[in-house]
Amino acid sequence: MSNQASTKPKPTQFYELRCRECHTPWGNQPISFCQKCFAPLEVVYDWASIKPLISRDEIARRGTTLWRYKELLPLPDEYDASLPVGFTPLVKAANLGDALPGGSARNKSLYLKNDASCFPTLSFKDRVVAVALAQARNFGFEVVSCSSTGNLANAVAAQAARGGFKACVFIPSDLESAKVLGTEVYGAQIVRIAGNYDHVNRLCSQIADKHRWGFVNVNLRPYYAEGSKTVGYEIAEQLGWRLPDNVVVPMAGGSLITKIYKAFKELVELGLVEAKNVKFFGAQATGCSPISTAVKAGRNEIQPQKPATIARSLAIGNPADGFYAARTIASTGGWAEDASDPEIVDGIALLAETEGIFTETAGGVTVASARKLYAQGRIKPEETTVLCITGNGLKTTDALVGRYEASEPIAPKLAALEEYLEQKLVGVYEAFGEARAGARGGVL
Ligand SMILES: *Cc1c(COP(=O)(O)O)cnc(C)c1O
Ligand SMILES: [Zn+2]
Repeated sequence: MSNQASTKPKPTQFYELRCRECHTPWGNQPISFCQKCFAPLEVVYDWASIKPLISRDEIARRGTTLWRYKELLPLPDEYDASLPVGFTPLVKAANLGDALPGGSARNKSLYLKNDASCFPTLSFKDRVVAVALAQARNFGFEVVSCSSTGNLANAVAAQAARGGFKACVFIPSDLESAKVLGTEVYGAQIVRIAGNYDHVNRLCSQIADKHRWGFVNVNLRPYYAEGSKTVGYEIAEQLGWRLPDNVVVPMAGGSLITKIYKAFKELVELGLVEAKNVKFFGAQATGCSPISTAVKAGRNEIQPQKPATIARSLAIGNPADGFYAARTIASTGGWAEDASDPEIVDGIALLAETEGIFTETAGGVTVASARKLYAQGRIKPEETTVLCITGNGLKTTDALVGRYEASEPIAPKLAALEEYLEQKLVGVYEAFGEARAGARGGVL
């Protein structure tokens, strides 16, 4: 694509699909596999033509959404950039750094990329859907669809409602009720499948060609996946156009981690950041850890697993990009870890108690895995490390049932409150000895 004959009309879209393995170009169409060798397709760009269009200053002038990186995304000429998706906060996490193993914690250069606050449905899936629906419109689809472990269904349903698409989403029957409700509320048709995500996805692959539907993670998958790159662009820009030493990324299908890698590489290629060997660390739930198991065994080939974990958003036993995720991790000198269900819940609580951020089970997986990576010395305290917090805890409150006991209500009387504090909060109460003395004087 980069060596177009000069007689051809100047293309306005500097991207197209290409086979990841045999490199056959396939133009732009709603397909995800090479029709010759069946390897997955990927979007490639004509960087020589894009480079003059973009600079740090130009990006800084634009709105704080993922559309500020529009030249680096596979967007059609006509697309609606009015939905303010992305550009979530990158927050320094000194308290969490203190709580993680690895010594003198205050100097830990630890950051959280907080997609628990992503607009509009509080997970990083809003990013991939924003890009996929731009292409769905371009290809003339009226119905958009997906197979989902929950967050993707939320994002497709919400953005379809706003964009005037009909949405029909397919989910495993055991999803968290907040994720089901958070799809239904937008008027989407939900098809619950009695099976796990891998059953759901196989079914969707079989019907994608039959119906002329835009399945964001099936026939639109190459475009969809590019939306994940914006996590990487934002991390670099928010660090002051620098790359971190390490990133820790939760893995389901394994796409996000490979796309953050791709994003960093592209920024280097465009001269927007200096080259650096960033180490990529993958995080999975032990109950569904096909990628981390492969990494620990020193191979890239994935052996599918049958998922059994509370981290339902990551419960993909046969990850589409597992091979590429494992290869990315190994080639950067990173590692992969996984967390048991109790460790995931502890990770959720630790993040909430230290940083005031309530993440879903996937974020618990990330925090719990990071804890292990610090303890193993694979991540050094002084290195700049970014944990990807990809979803919101209000969607997976089921995971915390039983952790906090509801206390008996007390009478709205000062005496009752005094007694309660004496009984239940002795430690806290004593820590505020002076306040107590004041309270006796009638201040409380
Ligand atoms: C989908 C999802 C992921 C993982 O994404 P992949 O690109 O499939 O690896 C991580 N976190 C959350 C909350 C998700 O919904
Ligand atoms: Zn091919």
